[in-house]
Amino acid sequence: MLPIYIFLTKQVLYMKLPLRMTPQREIILNELSKNKMHPTADELYDRIKKKLPHISLATVYRNLETLSETGLITKLEVTGRQKRFDWNKEPHSHITCTECNKLDDIFPPALSTPSLDFAPGDNKGYKVIGHRIEYFGICPACQEKLSKKE
Ligand SMILES: [Zn+2]
Ligand SMILES: [Zn+2]
Repeated sequence: MLPIYIFLTKQVLYMKLPLRMTPQREIILNELSKNKMHPTADELYDRIKKKLPHISLATVYRNLETLSETGLITKLEVTGRQKRFDWNKEPHSHITCTECNKLDDIFPPALSTPSLDFAPGDNKGYKVIGHRIEYFGICPACQEKLSKKE
């Protein structure tokens, strides 16, 4: 008979990994971790295809959704644009260039963080658990292009 502690250790391990790490998921995570530009599913698919020529876009998409549900990655839903995926788990916001649509990480000063403490009655009865700020701006490259046009 196996000592009982081995059984327990195994259970704990399974609890820590509710997600089965398949070779596909490992490659997807690996590609995402190398890409600092918050790629869309299509962009990731183009890279992953080079390693797994038989993988379909639907499979990549499904795996990205599953990985973001477990919190291993973050799904960014910017209004009116394709979803992007983010590997960086550090709390941060995003800034989009209104000229070229480039999306960057931004670490705003703590003071600009909106409060989650609503006055009674102002929260419409919701228990508020988070917020999302989208910053917009003009990236340095576009600023330069624009200044040359003038
Ligand atoms: Zn730009
Ligand atoms: Zn980010």
